[in-house]
Amino acid sequence: MIPISRRIAAISESATIKVDRRAKELTAQGRSIISFGTGEPDFATPEHIVDAAVAAARDPRNHHYSAPSGLPELRAAIAEKTQRDSGLDIDPSQVIVTNGGKQAVFEAFATVLDDGDEVLLPAPYWTTYPESIALAGGTAVEVFAGADQGYKVTVAQLEAATTKRTRGLVFVSPSNPTGAVYTEQETRDIGEWALAHGLWVLADEIYQDLTYDGVRAPSIVSVVPELASSTLLANGVAKTYAMTGWRVGWLVAPPAIASAAANLQSHLCSNVSNVAQHAALAALTGPQDAAHDMHEAFARRRAVILEQLRAVEGLHVPTPDGAFYVYADVRALLSAERGEGMPTTSLELADDLLEHAGVAAVPGEAFGKSGYLRFSYALGDDDIREGIKRVRSFVDSRSPGDLSRT
Ligand code: PMP
Repeated sequence: MIPISRRIAAISESATIKVDRRAKELTAQGRSIISFGTGEPDFATPEHIVDAAVAAARDPRNHHYSAPSGLPELRAAIAEKTQRDSGLDIDPSQVIVTNGGKQAVFEAFATVLDDGDEVLLPAPYWTTYPESIALAGGTAVEVFAGADQGYKVTVAQLEAATTKRTRGLVFVSPSNPTGAVYTEQETRDIGEWALAHGLWVLADEIYQDLTYDGVRAPSIVSVVPELASSTLLANGVAKTYAMTGWRVGWLVAPPAIASAAANLQSHLCSNVSNVAQHAALAALTGPQDAAHDMHEAFARRRAVILEQLRAVEGLHVPTPDGAFYVYADVRALLSAERGEGMPTTSLELADDLLEHAGVAAVPGEAFGKSGYLRFSYALGDDDIREGIKRVRSFVDSRSPGDLSRT
């Protein structure tokens, strides 16, 4: 038997992927499953983007290795987008095009962390952060914010979690899994605090284009420009342009960090597929109508799912201002509150919903703490209605009558 390294053995399968896999298995068995599990738009990639990829595939110039950090025209377009949407003036040499935002996050931690370094990680968090921090030798220090604080951490909480080993902070707004968006003032408070403590910030801005009701998600570097030399930005085309399968993201970093990360990438994977890079270039520089239409569809679906979920007894559902997730506090549904017949954890509740109600949602355990369910609303209006109706029937059938109405 070949032993598995301690580092890799400690990694667990992404819980979101696990839920999705089980939902697909049940569907393949002929069960009717409505999945709120996946973190990706259900739309096809807009046609002009696909056309650009087809043309790129036919061009022999794209059949060979290219610069590991990305095609020059794409890096220039990303620099322009960063200027426009994050208010940060950068040189294209500070951009590294990666295989999805996920690789940008991974490379960021790998480039700046040494063994034993601590990173403040607001929770609930996207599952990849703690794993990639650990793989880089660092330690994620969770700072939890519940529904009562809109899932947003405060400076006082960050301060309390800081030790002499703290090196950096993860800042994600809009957030996966909660959809929470920090206001400009909250962003400024956190940014100024990080600056005063000499911490670097990894700002994951992959959902920055997806906010609702006129809310904006200001970039932490635009609000606190002095953070420019100590901030890394992760971003990508996956969520805004329905391009999760194309695997194009990017890391923007101060020059020395960018060049170190480029060295890492040159050994890790060389360049991202040229065809996919041309698709991303078309996404960023071409017409934005399709992205706009998808955004509108998300806004409509968000209204539908919020209305439906709020009609389920025992769910507490703060309004998410961004991304395409609703994060429901389900603690009042668990057995400690409801009594017998109900599951004790959100993991069990998610399993029961999947097996007995045909509804897939991701349990809070995947994002740091039990007691919550994440519902993605990247699915059609009718499915949303039917799915939440199933949740409601399940809850009603399981709760002892008297208790369910208190
Ligand atoms: N950051 C966050 C917060 C995400 O939710 C995701 C996707 N689930 C990513 C980064 C990575 O996206 P991708 O690798 O598909 O670009």
